[in-house]
Amino acid sequence: MRICYTSDLHGRSELYRQLDRLVSAEKPDLLILGGDLFRDGELDDPVASQVAYIEQTFVPRVRAWRGAVPGLEVACIVGNHDWLCAETALQVHHAAGHLVLLNHQRPWQRSGVRFLGYSKTPPTPYWVKDFERLDRAGDPIPDTGGAVWDAESRAARKALPEEHFDNHASLAEDLAAAPELDDPWIFVCHAPPFDTKLDRLPHIEYPIGSHAVRAFIEQRQPLCALHGHVHESPAVTGGYVEQIGRTLCINPGQTHERLHAVLFDTEHPAETLRHTELA
Ligand SMILES: [Zn+2]
Repeated sequence: MRICYTSDLHGRSELYRQLDRLVSAEKPDLLILGGDLFRDGELDDPVASQVAYIEQTFVPRVRAWRGAVPGLEVACIVGNHDWLCAETALQVHHAAGHLVLLNHQRPWQRSGVRFLGYSKTPPTPYWVKDFERLDRAGDPIPDTGGAVWDAESRAARKALPEEHFDNHASLAEDLAAAPELDDPWIFVCHAPPFDTKLDRLPHIEYPIGSHAVRAFIEQRQPLCALHGHVHESPAVTGGYVEQIGRTLCINPGQTHERLHAVLFDTEHPAETLRHTELA
């Protein structure tokens, strides 16, 4: 099965246009999008921004890709810049069979390969907190401002760090509950593993990836782990691939102007892996 994977498009039309061209040229069997897919929603009305974008632009585009490439499936996760209301909107399209929204509890299967997806990240300095969690239970609660989506009042409200991080399981706790899968399986996880070529920012000297994600990959050893989030990292480290045990971990990176994506065949991922921009 030929997979095309990209991430962190942040609703940038130029990147989506380049992805249109890549999909029609390469005709993959499966296109996977690794989160942070939409424009940063306006804080005063995430519905009017991200959900409208999903309905008016994103889902019609997925339909066009699938129309242009017979048999193509499109699977995605969200990321920490995406609001909870965006994930809820995608769940409706998943249920309708328009696309696949991957999760970490129930594997999705295609051509004999199983997939788990995970959208949460350790705390960041950014504003949207819906998909931020402590990396490991007992980690210090960060003193960062932000907002979360309140499904009941259908509005964004200020996030209270103590309440938010105390009331949700950590990444490590979530991932410990993921089912054990037989080979081969692929892990699509927005946050990259800690201390790799995939988790460095230009202005910070230490790695910022997830300890929990790294431990999960070390223990469970999927065929591939597809990441994003720290999309500056390949430019900082000069690499977009890291081997953890037998797992090929990939963060294609992303820029504002040139689409960064990878293509590979699940029969021989390492041998067939190709980046659209990087050597
Ligand atoms: Zn992110």
